[in-house]
Parts: sequence; C-alpha cells; structure tokens
Amino acid sequence: MDAPYARLEQLESGIARLLAHNPSAFTYYGTQSYLVGEREVAVVDPGPDLPEHLDALTAAIGGRRVVAIMCTHTHRDHSPAAAPLAERTGAPIVGCGPLALETVGPRADASFDGDYAPDRVLADGEAIEVDAMPVTAVATPGHTSNHLCFAYGDALFTGDHVMGWSTTVIFPPDGDMADYMASLDKLRRRSDRVYYPAHGPAVTNPAQYVRHLVGHRMQREKQILSLVSEQPRTIPEIVAGAYPGLDPRLVTAAGGSVLAHLLDLERRGLVGQEGEQWTAA
Ligand SMILES: [Zn+2]
Repeated sequence: MDAPYARLEQLESGIARLLAHNPSAFTYYGTQSYLVGEREVAVVDPGPDLPEHLDALTAAIGGRRVVAIMCTHTHRDHSPAAAPLAERTGAPIVGCGPLALETVGPRADASFDGDYAPDRVLADGEAIEVDAMPVTAVATPGHTSNHLCFAYGDALFTGDHVMGWSTTVIFPPDGDMADYMASLDKLRRRSDRVYYPAHGPAVTNPAQYVRHLVGHRMQREKQILSLVSEQPRTIPEIVAGAYPGLDPRLVTAAGGSVLAHLLDLERRGLVGQEGEQWTAA
C-alpha cells in the first residue's frame, strides 16, 4: 500500500491528519498526527522526532497560530516531536502528564519518552480552546497510566486507547487491564460520532467498536482462566495456547497483555502465582 507519508489529509472541517514515517509491528503504517482547527490549530500527537515529519507538520500549520501541542501519552512514537515543534512554533505543550517509571521492563524502557516536559497538564474534563471551540481531555488510563483522549465536537482523538487496526497493548507495570476496561466503559457511556486513533483508520461506528473490544478482552480473559484451570502454566505457555500462529515480533507484547490479565484476575482472587507458574485460585 502507498501510505500517505507527509501528505496532509483533510478529514472533515477542522480536522486534518498527517502520517509519520515510523511503520512497525506496533505502529501499523506509523503515527498519525492530527491538526485541529481552522484559523488556529492544535496538534494532537505530534509523533516521533523525525525531521521529515516536523517539516510536514510545519508546512501544514502554515502561518496559523498553534494554540497547543497535545500528547495523548508519552510512548516514543507519540510525544518526542512535541519539544522541537514547540521550539519551531512557540506553542505550549499541553495534555498528558509526564511519566516516570520506577520499574521498567525491557519494552517499557525502550518505549517511554522520558524527556517529555509539558507546560500544562490537563485533568479529566479540562479543555483548551481552538477557534473558540473546546478540545477536552478525557482521562483514559490503561494502555498507559497517563493516557488521555481528546474530544472536539463529536469527534474523539483516541491515541492508543482505541486503535483502528489492532487491539491495544497493555503492558504492566504501567499498563493496567482493569483501568483499560474501565476506560473502555467510559467511552461506551459517551456518544461520539467518530474516533480518530493514532494508528489505523478512523472508527466510524464507535459504540459497536467499543462493544467488540470489550467482548474481545472478556473472551481472552476466559481463555486464560481456562488454560490455567487445566494445569499450572507459565506466561510463555499461556501465550502459545492463547495466540496460535502469533507473529514472533508480537510475542513479548502478547506476554505483557497476558500478564496484565493475570494481575487483574489475581486482584479479583481468581488466579494465583507459584514461582513462574500461574494457577486457578
Ligand atoms: Zn502507546
């Protein structure tokens, strides 16, 4: 497929999309930055710090005032371009809080942007204004503890909380399955018309899509419970049983999501751990 790298796509009035060239097994074709507004503009998820992407963002902004550079969370494919874009435009960095992890796993270590320094952190329900229209933070922890979605009219920028191409990786210790499920429930109680995720196509049937995501996780949980009920198993054994034919590049991530399920089940008293093995309680 000819992905639209560095080509601004006007999706609707006040919302345009720009794809960064950072394709991977976790990012699909890459990170999608959004330009929100008409006379003024806010940039949602500026993306990775790639000169070509920064140049494309700068060209798309044109002469307009940048009200804010907004990050949904601080994974390295989302926030590193915030600082250089702030330098180019003079705009403040507004949105999710910084994240300092006390314990970092192998993936977490590589994937968090420790240099992210916001000028203003938005709490749940707080907003900034673009062209006198609010862009409102919707706290959605789970994928990361600092994850925010941003609502603009009846559109919701969902970052990595809900993606258009794949299910979201929940990687402990920062990723938390119970938080993620509660954050899906929070979206279920909203009435957004469309989701614009950081990866993958727009979601034009949000209510149905969120129901599907919740069902998928509940199915996965049931499967994990059933595997450890048969006999005590390690996480790699559960991954092999629950994800047949998995792309080898995704095994670590699947192990993270399985661990996230197990920790949630353990808190609910449904599983226990003996050494490396997990058992039904
Ligand atoms: Zn992420």
